Amino acid sequence: MLNKFEDTIIAGGGPIGLACAISARRCGIDPLIVEAGAIADSIVRYPIGMGFFTTPELLEIGGHPFVSAGQKPTREEALKYYRGVVRVDGLRVRTYTRLLNASRNGGVITCTLQTESGESTIDCKRLVLATGYFGEPNLMDVPGESLPFVHHYFDEPHLSFGLDVVVIGGRNSAVEAALELFRAGARVTLVYRGTAFPPSVKYWVKPDIENRIAAKQISSRLGATVLRIEPGTVVIRNAEHVEEKLHADRVYALTGFRADFALFRRLGIELEPDTERATVNPDTLESNVPGIYMAGSIVAGRFTSGIFIENGRFDGDKIFRC
Ligand SMILES: Cc1cc2nc3c(=O)[nH]c(=O)nc-3n(C[C@H](O)[C@H](O)[C@H](O)COP(=O)(O)OP(=O)(O)OC[C@H]3O[C@@H](n4cnc5c(N)ncnc54)[C@H](O)[C@@H]3O)c2cc1C
Repeated sequence: MLNKFEDTIIAGGGPIGLACAISARRCGIDPLIVEAGAIADSIVRYPIGMGFFTTPELLEIGGHPFVSAGQKPTREEALKYYRGVVRVDGLRVRTYTRLLNASRNGGVITCTLQTESGESTIDCKRLVLATGYFGEPNLMDVPGESLPFVHHYFDEPHLSFGLDVVVIGGRNSAVEAALELFRAGARVTLVYRGTAFPPSVKYWVKPDIENRIAAKQISSRLGATVLRIEPGTVVIRNAEHVEEKLHADRVYALTGFRADFALFRRLGIELEPDTERATVNPDTLESNVPGIYMAGSIVAGRFTSGIFIENGRFDGDKIFRC
């Protein structure tokens, strides 16, 4: 049963939402976290067994030590760590509860929440949005994109052993998936609209993919556009402007993610037209709607790689000062 009034609601139980809750508690406020999925749901969606590029101490929140077996933690170690933080700090989290909307009347913000059993409302004085960007894949707007053999999240390479797999995209997620799929025995074709991999591809991954392509161990179609996806086939226009059909048992469309900008607009938050960055006070992270704050990766608007755990984990200390 939810209280009908909370001082503070935090939407999003990812690393930054949890860190914000710890900052609030250290100021004597006991916030309610509402989380659309499981805690740290974005990390749940990382590929199984994936290793972080960040060392564990830079993923720590609330000063809780994060010890990992290797130099860099795995997805599984991070999930265990954030579960431990919630338990030790006694954070109140409502999982599988999505913030759908919020409206402000006087000093009260009424939040509409959705769970499997329906919708409910709850009032608060302060709403912190820490909803991340991993819930909404960037779609290509081509026919067939939602066919069941098209995946927008990379799960694990083992599932594709012996299969023809088309990976769409050319940034870290797509490139790393292509390499892992190849090493797990899939026949991989990487389709990317750019004519070269962008500089943001990790410096130790770039030569690997370029060498695999040069050795013809991974096929590539750079400078190509996906026209449509049909059962068993990805139809592209290749760099020579010729329509080409690529056989695919499985497709990974790894074209990035975007924050739920529609939610922010429903809440009355102003977004810069080009970057979809919210106008927030940089010192307090309060948005143009009094009482509504933005934290973590969403502060970067469309530039999702601008703020991550390492550099977003102290946002709560800006919002809650005591
Ligand atoms: C494969 C991969 C590897 C990465 N490796 C690293 C790394 O090594 N180091 C690093 O610092 N960063 C890394 N990142 C980036 C990092 O995951 C994000 O920057 C980080 O998760 C952002 O934290 P956040 O709390 O702002 O958002 P998220 O972690 O995305 O958390 C947001 C939470 O809000 C929930 N939510 C969304 N909408 C609603 C709603 N309407 N109501 C309620 N809840 C909602 C989501 O379910 C989610 O749990 C990586 C990302 C990926 C994809």
